[in-house]
Amino acid sequence: MIRLPPFQLVVPGSLDEAARVLADAGPVASLVAGGTDLYPNMKRRQIAPAVLVSIAALPELQTVRQAADGGLAIGAGITLTSLADHPLVRKQFGPLRDAALDISTPLLRNMGTLGGNLCLDTRCHFLNQTEFWRHALGTCMKAEGDICRVAPGGSRCWAITSADLPPLLIALGARVQLVSTRVERKISLSELYRDDGIAWLTKAPDEILTELIVPSLDGMRAGYLKLRRRATFDFPALGVAAAVRVGADGVVESARIVLGAVTSRPLDMPEAQRLVGERLTTEAIASVADAMQRNAKPLHLADYTHSYRKRMVNVYATRLLERLAQEQEPAAAPR
Ligand SMILES: Cc1cc2nc3c(=O)[nH]c(=O)nc-3n(C[C@H](O)[C@H](O)[C@H](O)COP(=O)(O)OP(=O)(O)OC[C@H]3O[C@@H](n4cnc5c(N)ncnc54)[C@H](O)[C@@H]3O)c2cc1C
Ligand code: SF4
Repeated sequence: MIRLPPFQLVVPGSLDEAARVLADAGPVASLVAGGTDLYPNMKRRQIAPAVLVSIAALPELQTVRQAADGGLAIGAGITLTSLADHPLVRKQFGPLRDAALDISTPLLRNMGTLGGNLCLDTRCHFLNQTEFWRHALGTCMKAEGDICRVAPGGSRCWAITSADLPPLLIALGARVQLVSTRVERKISLSELYRDDGIAWLTKAPDEILTELIVPSLDGMRAGYLKLRRRATFDFPALGVAAAVRVGADGVVESARIVLGAVTSRPLDMPEAQRLVGERLTTEAIASVADAMQRNAKPLHLADYTHSYRKRMVNVYATRLLERLAQEQEPAAAPR
């Protein structure tokens, strides 16, 4: 059994107190919500925060409410199970429910939270190993070493974003609220991410992600497909999300496609714009999927080979867009 390193656990009673404790403790502190990713990373000694500020039970982070524009404002502390089961999500955001149910296992979804998923650490085969394994190999710059095992000549870490919800939520134009003792602000979810495996979030360490705001689907067709070896368990080796608005005449008015598990941040694919002004025909879909395959450059640091994941960009984008082409109504079917 691998044991956790020692740490002090602080359980604040309110969001204000959590922000204060986090600010006062400084860089030695980390937030913990469900702990389903943080604790395994600590056990493997990838990180060793001296203070953990637990926000899982904060009542301010548990709310789900209808926003004025018909969208949803969802508290970051809600578990993935509660997210998928919430009546408003079931009724109005079928694609979000489906993506949440694609994450890991029921037990982990009972603990893991929305906020933890949006802030999930990046992953890499060379890093997500025990300390013993890493030291035997020579470790890398995201842990104790100074070179990258994936691209030894480079000066950056390429560890990949591996959370399932961000690609879909970015495609839908979601925003997040960040709160600290200094400032309270809203940014687009896309702005939260940086293409850097070590510093993958743009938010300051003392900022707490408190709420996700998803605009109303309002007729948008959307979905998420995930490549993984074990369909009931694994992190994505590739994620493809798309949100497409089709007019009454069958012509695409707007389209956004976002890839997960390819770079250190969810990757917006400009190739989606080729669909605008077109019908979702086999030819139009193939043109976009082929271009995405050419331009996506997954590195060899996750499950499957680089070339297989690159090929799957095409296959998964095609499958998803063909599915959206068949939809008459925005997908909201409970399952
Ligand atoms: C075996 C296994 C399989 C998994 N499979 C998947 C998968 O298929 N897809 C997937 O997406 N994930 C997967 N996960 C990861 C994880 O279970 C989920 O992503 C979960 O949603 C993480 O939420 P959490 O509350 O447990 O996060 P935690 O582990 O508590 O935190 C994760 C990170 O987010 C930060 N954080 C948490 N909440 C906030 C907040 N409100 N504001 C700011 N920072 C915050 C923490 O400081 C930490 O850095 C898997 C994990 C395991 C162990
Ligand atoms: S991409 Fe390189 S630096 Fe980053 S975790 Fe992997 S081996 Fe380490």
